Amino acid sequence: MGKKYGRYFTRLVTLLCLLFATGVFTVYANSLQKKLAPVSADVMPSDQLATAATTETAITTTTEETTEATTTVEATPTPEPDYVEPIMKETWYNGYVDPRSIRAEIVVPDGAVTVLVNKYYTLTEDYEPDDLVNPKHAGEQKLRKEAAEAYEAMYDACKAEVGQGIYLISGYRSFSLQKTLFTRSMNKRSLAFACKRNAYQGRSEHQLGLAMDISPEGSTVISDDFGKTKVGQWVDAHCHEFGFIRRFQGQWSEETGYDNEAWHYRYVGVELATHLTENNMSLEAYYDKCQVMP
Ligand SMILES: [Zn+2]
Repeated sequence: MGKKYGRYFTRLVTLLCLLFATGVFTVYANSLQKKLAPVSADVMPSDQLATAATTETAITTTTEETTEATTTVEATPTPEPDYVEPIMKETWYNGYVDPRSIRAEIVVPDGAVTVLVNKYYTLTEDYEPDDLVNPKHAGEQKLRKEAAEAYEAMYDACKAEVGQGIYLISGYRSFSLQKTLFTRSMNKRSLAFACKRNAYQGRSEHQLGLAMDISPEGSTVISDDFGKTKVGQWVDAHCHEFGFIRRFQGQWSEETGYDNEAWHYRYVGVELATHLTENNMSLEAYYDKCQVMP
């Protein structure tokens, strides 16, 4: 064999050796890979499955909790206080307290006609009865349906017995209208006058749709003189038969926090009105919620 062929032979042997070595390595590597390969899910040992499941649940729960927490925060309205803080130190004028200096409890009416609203018990700004109607002999004024029907019945009886009916000058009043009235009284008359005669916004029975300021038919003036008229005296004597009370009487000023008002009547239903009249009792005394004098 010549030198040239010897060289070719050597190269061929080297190549074969390399191919053999590569084949052996590949087989070994495959075998090793099978041993080290991750176990597929369908053959995963149960304890590992459980761990995986727990992990998934944990993640899901965490997500749900996060979502829930976020939703709860969004769905919860700002908690409303159940009372209104006074905006000044308690201040009295001749036995009548400035309502703005009183901590008033917030009242949420449930429809009952016997609800108490005064300087110490306030309605919220947005409260408006859902059954307001416009009775006869009342211009554009409104009352809650039950009170309106009682008012019309009282008108008919008064007209029949006295020969003259009554007129509803002011019935339901909104929070904002009451605010205008109190502010106007305070500015035009005096703060002391407003405190004994005008309810502060939110603390007026007129916002309940159960209070009314009345005059003899033919008049549209709110006056102390109403109590001296035949109509006024008849209404004072018979109103309880129709479910009304004359709410602010001079004899109860220290209990109610208001001066005598001949024109202001409040509907509470025949049963309570009769009970209060027979016992000569203010609504505050009935509820044992008379105003607190210093
Ligand atoms: Zn009134």
